[in-house]
Amino acid sequence: MNDPTNRWFAETLHGSYEQRLEISDILYRSKSGLQDIIIFETPFFGKVLALDGIVQTTERDEACYHEMLAHVPILAHGDVREALIIGGGDGGALREVLRHGSVDRATMVEIDHTVVDICLEHMPGLSDGAFHDPRFDLVIADGVKFVKETAHKFDLIIVDSTDPIGPSVQLFSDEFYTDCRNILTDDGIVVCQSGVSFVQEEEARGTLSRLTKIYADAALYVTQVPTYSFGFMTLGWGANSNRARSTDDATIRSRFEKASFATKYYTPEIHAACFALPAYMRY
Ligand code: SAM
Repeated sequence: MNDPTNRWFAETLHGSYEQRLEISDILYRSKSGLQDIIIFETPFFGKVLALDGIVQTTERDEACYHEMLAHVPILAHGDVREALIIGGGDGGALREVLRHGSVDRATMVEIDHTVVDICLEHMPGLSDGAFHDPRFDLVIADGVKFVKETAHKFDLIIVDSTDPIGPSVQLFSDEFYTDCRNILTDDGIVVCQSGVSFVQEEEARGTLSRLTKIYADAALYVTQVPTYSFGFMTLGWGANSNRARSTDDATIRSRFEKASFATKYYTPEIHAACFALPAYMRY
């Protein structure tokens, strides 16, 4: 944030572009030792969380990201009982996972407790009570270490990380995704945030080639998050079998209707379409 008047938050994710959000109030700002954290109020997007100068989530458009991260794998799989979230300290992905009655347990491995604490305090609507759900376990640790050492098995792993800078770097590695594969069940699925492919092509391309090497079924799918500038937000998909992604549209629809909760972005139609990629993403 380089505005001396402190009226604008400027995000320069790519050399020659800058996105600015007007600040109506700064609610929290500090360097937690791991990452620079700020939460601020804006006139249009509501409250915003940024880490190391990059917008992570805003109250107004976070559902476009968290719903697609959670409901696409859970409704495709059909029987997710044990879910693991790496990162996701704001609680948005956790909230969406726990909306599914089939989920018995959701474990979050978040490296920075400060993110959980301040999002609970300043942006409680994001987790919307999920942190107090009896099915929830919080582990404050490095996700890289956790997946290497845990004896548990999971049906779904959601890697809801920051971009590959700072503590997230090792979450974009073959070793990490190989360790994830080894703790997934036979039909288990891992999904991960993989940047805005129009300006972070290497991140998206790297994710697809990594997942293709390690999983029986690998793909990219997309969503659209207005404050993730420059087009499609790319999500990576890796699965130990092709079963989930071959679930037919009618089954996805009936599972969604049976789950019976309202969404702001996810629909069965968007689920069917989200693996269709533009030509510039045919890596
Ligand atoms: N839900 C957010 C969004 O909408 O974009 C995603 C960002 S979430 C705040 C990213 C989280 O990943 C941060 O809280 C950060 O502390 C955490 N993180 C980064 N590296 C990590 C690691 N190696 N292990 C566990 N958590 C990590």
